[in-house]
Amino acid sequence: LPGQPFINEPDTDWTVPANRTWIHDCRERRLAAEPEQIPVVIDGEEIGYDFRGTGSDPSRPGVVAYRYALAKMSDVNNALDVSERAFADWSKTSIDERKALLDKAAALIAAERGEILAAMTLDGGKSIVEADPEISEAIDFATYYARSFDALVNHSDVEAQPLGTFVVAPPWNFPFAIPCGGVLAALMAGNTVILKPAPQAVLCGWVLAQLLWKAGIPKDVLQFVPAPDNEIGKRLITSEKTAGVILTGAFDTAKLFQSWKPELNLYAETSGKNSLIITGAADLDLAVKDLVRSAFGNAGQKCSAASIAIIEAEVYDNPIFMQQLKDAAESLAVGSAWDPASVVTPVIQAPEENLSEALHSLKDGEEWLLEPTMVDNNPCLWSPGIRTGVKPGSWYHRTECFGPVLGLIRVESLEEAIAVQNDSQFGLTGGIHSLDPREIAIWREKVEVGNAYINRSTTGAIVNRQPFGGWKNSVFGPGTKAGGPNYTLTLCRWEQVALPS
Ligand code: GLU
Repeated sequence: LPGQPFINEPDTDWTVPANRTWIHDCRERRLAAEPEQIPVVIDGEEIGYDFRGTGSDPSRPGVVAYRYALAKMSDVNNALDVSERAFADWSKTSIDERKALLDKAAALIAAERGEILAAMTLDGGKSIVEADPEISEAIDFATYYARSFDALVNHSDVEAQPLGTFVVAPPWNFPFAIPCGGVLAALMAGNTVILKPAPQAVLCGWVLAQLLWKAGIPKDVLQFVPAPDNEIGKRLITSEKTAGVILTGAFDTAKLFQSWKPELNLYAETSGKNSLIITGAADLDLAVKDLVRSAFGNAGQKCSAASIAIIEAEVYDNPIFMQQLKDAAESLAVGSAWDPASVVTPVIQAPEENLSEALHSLKDGEEWLLEPTMVDNNPCLWSPGIRTGVKPGSWYHRTECFGPVLGLIRVESLEEAIAVQNDSQFGLTGGIHSLDPREIAIWREKVEVGNAYINRSTTGAIVNRQPFGGWKNSVFGPGTKAGGPNYTLTLCRWEQVALPS
């Protein structure tokens, strides 16, 4: 970015004892606190009603972690009116003013890292090792979008014209970084925003909204509207006052939004069924390490997670490889997110539907290399599972399960591996482990994914270095990648200014 240095925010160094003490204290405070009551906030006015939404802590099922108010139809209509009025002034603020606010937001997020991490432990059960980089990513989104938009607009003769009100509907699996990125990108481009937090992660959205207001973003420009997923939530999406919707969530949700309003201006990152190929030319120690990380990080609840490994026969039939993979997955510490040693923490809710099916039953010819089990009598807490003998085209190959399960498919060649990898309606991430440059060249040419990872894990994209987003049914809208140079550009209209030549 010309003249705009951008440096990724470093994660916390947990080898420093003072850092461990600090995070311990932050988390103890959050654990001891009374459950918060989170309002709907419209034009700065906190609306409480009866706080009939409840937030849960998957590490302690049954405990009410917090309560939240749910917007009524009149609130949604008011929020849309307020946003429309606020747009008149906000859209005319200078790029420098907005950039200064995003920089302030980044500084505040950095200053509150411990409190944010503690909220993420409670709201969603993220482990420390997963939550900490997410906060770095949120800071990166703020500083990066400010700089990338500035570089394009302030340093050229095109004029950016914002579109209006954006509704940002983030997911629960990255409950802080993804809403942060969506909200700040839309604001930086000069739009006003209504943040509708994911119902399973209202607290993280609330922590974010408060920090952004504290940074100076006006309360009519950013409003916080937890809304039920019924006619009321639908109104936010379909209103003629909504200029755009930024969604990260399931493919079916994006489809539903589109069915409500075919002309909807939708920017969505949706589902994936990602796989990692391991060829006969792979470094198997590295492959095991990266596969386990890709499959079981955040208990497999990442859109980017590898839930399938496609393995060439000579590796698949090698008992030492299978034993190593089993041992590596089995050695992951499974436990409550409040235990700092836990690596695999609870899933967001007791498994239902596809995830329940994937944890409980095998299909035609499949076997368990490692059978998943419920831990600590907590229906949300599951040890990693590995299914062998998964057949191309089978239920497991096709179905997004979003949890700590990995399936292994045996193939005869790289060509077959690539065919199986591409045989998916989704195209988010994909990986290959091979030390053979010819194999890598073939794979790069043919693989149909938005983020193609070579000899590394398929998760953990870093802002600016690996802009993130998929192909096929993993994306709706322009398909510009989060954390990449064009993301903010699609959130406005462009006027090319030309003088007589
Ligand atoms: N950006 C995240 C990663 O690279 C995934 C985001 C998601 O799950 O939506 O792991």
